[in-house]
Amino acid sequence: MPRNFCRRRWSAASLLATLFICCNSTAAQTDRTSENVTVVIDAGHGGHDRGGIPGQRIAEKDMTLDVAQRLRNVLAASGYRVVMTRDSDVFVPLGTRVAIANSYRNAIFVCVHFNATKRMGASGIETYFYSRDSLPLASAIHHFVVGGAPSASRGVRRRGYYVLRKTSIPAVLVECGFLTNPTEAAYAQTASYRQKLAEEIAAGVRGRNSVTGTLSTTRVATSETIPLQPYMDQTKVTSSEHRKSKRSHKKSARKKKSSSKSTGSEARYASTDPEA
Ligand SMILES: [Zn+2]
Repeated sequence: MPRNFCRRRWSAASLLATLFICCNSTAAQTDRTSENVTVVIDAGHGGHDRGGIPGQRIAEKDMTLDVAQRLRNVLAASGYRVVMTRDSDVFVPLGTRVAIANSYRNAIFVCVHFNATKRMGASGIETYFYSRDSLPLASAIHHFVVGGAPSASRGVRRRGYYVLRKTSIPAVLVECGFLTNPTEAAYAQTASYRQKLAEEIAAGVRGRNSVTGTLSTTRVATSETIPLQPYMDQTKVTSSEHRKSKRSHKKSARKKKSSSKSTGSEARYASTDPEA
């Protein structure tokens, strides 16, 4: 019997070893979930749609594309599969952007925009989301972008922008500062700052499962705690924006030049992004 006993012990040891290897391999896979995730990057505006407000010197569409391309490079280097809704100066209708996003499973959607308003002093970073599932991603992106930018935080905001409402995957729109603010515009015009923005957004994408207050089985080990951000619920002020967005979209569909908005208040400007 000693021989059988040995065999049994060996079998038990093998089983344990196998379990250990399985567990380890599961842990390793969990840590590498990024590699199975598709990030759909949406560079705001493009083509005839410059973005921003009438008379704005710096075309928002150029800044968004540059940051989006840099973000793609950073994320691709981290092992993410990346899809761009546009990769050149072309106009892509909002419906097409959403359709691209929704055609991927296990994906997230990141829209890159810059803000604009008539009041030159307005500044800061704001990050938008709509579905509750998107709040951790919004929190993480906002946390890192605000942390890495000299600009102040204007907070995380819940709002029913078309691209956020219609996407079925976690979706976030980040406004990377005001191109109508001389200081922020100067920053945005330097390649090193746009690279920094891209790296911070990428850090948010990587850290989205480490946001506290969320139940996630794919929590990534990190030394940094990323707080779930409190947010301003601005969904009630979006009804007119929805109509605007739809009108804008219909106009786009008819290939008419999309009208730039010229509403009065900064709040409306800050949130009246024709493409958002
Ligand atoms: Zn925009």
